[in-house]
Amino acid sequence: MLTVEKLGDLTGKKVMVRVDFNVPLNGKEIRDDNRIVSALPTIKALVNKGGRIALFSHLGKIKWGKVDDEEIAKEKAKNDMQFVYPRLKELLAPTVVKFTNATHGEELKKAIDELKDGEVLLVQNTRYEKGESKNDPALSADWASNFDVFVMDAFGSAHRAHASTYGVPEILKKENKTCALGYLMEKEVKNLRRCVNPDAHPYVAILGGFKVSDKIKVIDSLLKKCDRILIGGAMAYTFLKALGKKVGNSPVEEDQLDYALKCYASGKIVLPVDTVVADDMENPTAIETVKTDAGIPEGFEGFDVGTETIDLYKSYIKDAKIIFWNGPVGVFEKDVFSKGTIAVCKAITDNKDCFSVIGGGDSAAAAKQFGYADKFSHVSTGGGASLEMIENDGHLPGIDVIGE
Ligand code: ADP
Ligand code: MG
Repeated sequence: MLTVEKLGDLTGKKVMVRVDFNVPLNGKEIRDDNRIVSALPTIKALVNKGGRIALFSHLGKIKWGKVDDEEIAKEKAKNDMQFVYPRLKELLAPTVVKFTNATHGEELKKAIDELKDGEVLLVQNTRYEKGESKNDPALSADWASNFDVFVMDAFGSAHRAHASTYGVPEILKKENKTCALGYLMEKEVKNLRRCVNPDAHPYVAILGGFKVSDKIKVIDSLLKKCDRILIGGAMAYTFLKALGKKVGNSPVEEDQLDYALKCYASGKIVLPVDTVVADDMENPTAIETVKTDAGIPEGFEGFDVGTETIDLYKSYIKDAKIIFWNGPVGVFEKDVFSKGTIAVCKAITDNKDCFSVIGGGDSAAAAKQFGYADKFSHVSTGGGASLEMIENDGHLPGIDVIGE
């Protein structure tokens, strides 16, 4: 696949770069600039090659559904790419970095045409355009008409076939224009492909978190690749209920019980043998650890894995050669429910003989918070994208469209 590294001189060329500047915000403040920092190697390389660089990214969500104009204006105001602009300018100094509020048409074209070699333009939030998420052909054509080269560096959005991730490169490819992957994408693809086509065993996956319905589908494909899947987090209760255990007030995906049983029949699924339960997540007045066989009592909910489960997990983690981890195994944000997730971080990074990957925003945040993030082989910038990449055997729309 063509990568930034292999692109030649770009003097005079107009380059569209799809970056992932979807940073967490606190009002107008950037809470974590990691995504901006991660995009710098690609941007700097393109600047050094003399290109005229336009950066496109989404920021947050704009609900276009039933809301009226005023509500949309409010949503836009909350997700304004101008919040990103000062930090980007600072990080890229002394490179000239401009900003345009235009997201289509003549005004956008003018801003791009005014760029000089080696200058950068940050474009307003792609989701200000209703057609972005629908991969609207007219919007894609409008954007594509401005560019000679397309570079994809937004791994976190590569599982979405939107106008900026798919529509534009699809058009440019047809016009025999250059489409390439950025450094960030290249690294993600290389590392995650080892989780898709494992070159060593045992391969252990750890799945947790809260978004069960998003994640449960990936188990099917992981079962074909992994030797063990350790299940924690909210997903565990669906499995335990399917096996006839009492789960008290814990969340269960009732429509996935049969599927859970089918997965369990593989013999590869490892479930919690004990659970830390409480009467309330925010203000627990009673916290205890119950054995899975005894079941979680009514009025209680599971919030973390227990110590025996941690020991069981460790027994698999210590011998693994490849580990893919998505989803904290407990509510790690609360001290009292963080032990399981900390133990998972420690066990994985204690195994010096394994290739370890985190694919999940909250899992990555947990590893960072507890001081383990640097010790993993790879921390993916895309949770949903990394899961879908595994689910689709290494394929994602935003990668496939770039082509060979
Ligand atoms: P990731 O971003 O790593 O993919 P998710 O977004 O699916 O992970 O889930 C992260 C959230 O899951 C965390 O905020 C954590 O508090 C929550 N969580 C983990 N275990 C449980 C549980 N047993 N019950 C409720 N929430 C849980
Ligand atoms: Mg998350």
